[in-house]
Amino acid sequence: MTNYFRSNVDAMASYIPGEQPQRGTQIIKLNSNENPYPPSPAALAVLRNIDGEWLRRYPEPFGGEFRQAASKVLGVPSDWIIVGNGSDELLSVVIRACAEPGKKVVYPMPTYVLYRTLTEMQAAEIIEIPYRDDYSLPLEELVAANGSVTFIASPNSPSGHVVATNNLRKLASQLSGVLVIDEAYIDFTEENALALVKDYENVIVIRTLSKGYSLAGLRLGFGVANPKLLQGLFKVKDSYNIDAIACAIGTAAITDQAYKNACVAKIKASRNQLATDLKQLGFHLWDSQANFLLVQPREGNAEYLYQKLKERGILIRYFKQPGLDDKLRITVGTDEQNQALVEALIYLLETGD
Ligand code: PMP
Repeated sequence: MTNYFRSNVDAMASYIPGEQPQRGTQIIKLNSNENPYPPSPAALAVLRNIDGEWLRRYPEPFGGEFRQAASKVLGVPSDWIIVGNGSDELLSVVIRACAEPGKKVVYPMPTYVLYRTLTEMQAAEIIEIPYRDDYSLPLEELVAANGSVTFIASPNSPSGHVVATNNLRKLASQLSGVLVIDEAYIDFTEENALALVKDYENVIVIRTLSKGYSLAGLRLGFGVANPKLLQGLFKVKDSYNIDAIACAIGTAAITDQAYKNACVAKIKASRNQLATDLKQLGFHLWDSQANFLLVQPREGNAEYLYQKLKERGILIRYFKQPGLDDKLRITVGTDEQNQALVEALIYLLETGD
């Protein structure tokens, strides 16, 4: 076949998201860290009242209405906010604006697999530094690598651990490049690094409405950073990256903090219960501050359990990558979903089938 592609495309490790079955498929879906509860009723009311006139026109290019609402919730000026088509797009925007061949992109491993794919697309140099065994940050090595871009997910996926803000502060102060703090799962924990953007113009904190706000299908994320950093990012984003519907629904969702907080409280309680149940079944667990649990079965049969659960209509995530051998990531569902998972595991562990 004619080679239509750029020189490094064949060598790239493409990002493979979790399985996303078609709508209507009867499964228990615990593989993509979605929120098991519906979005805010206020957000759904906006959806029902979408005005044809909004759709006829191009949307406001910077998601202005959402920036205003997020500004009130976060206590930062609206011109410190960039809005994206999911936080994935914002990660891509940072890479496009700041990385190029000859520049380094650095992140601790294991972490979100997309960082590698985006860096490869930009043909920049990848530096992966292993987390320490207790998942503490390899601070000295990250500082020494001094990337043009450094990614830290906190809470991290798939481990679920939070990176202490004082360590992120040390990193921000010593790096000459951009520090991306990916807070996709921040709604499920107490600590956050938002204050760092005021002190360090090289820091961007990126968040999403996919998790805490139950809007993964809408595709809406945002970043908070000094406008000096944002002005470069705005240059490489798509012209109309926030569609009118996402902007309107996202505005209602972020304004309804009470609803989001109530969902998050339920998920945290279910997380604790599920962790207790899985420990009783003999799984090793890492302490998670997110809406998922990283677990390792005692028998070394993670891939087998993943397959057998799938046959029974329960999807979880099985990773094959360095540092994650024989581990599974399970999204926290409703109590009923978690109970169904635990019962299926009891059956599989008892019968071996
Ligand atoms: N960051 C991390 C660490 C994630 O796990 C995810 C979800 N896959 C994202 C960012 C992207 O989320 P979204 O694009 O839905 O906002």
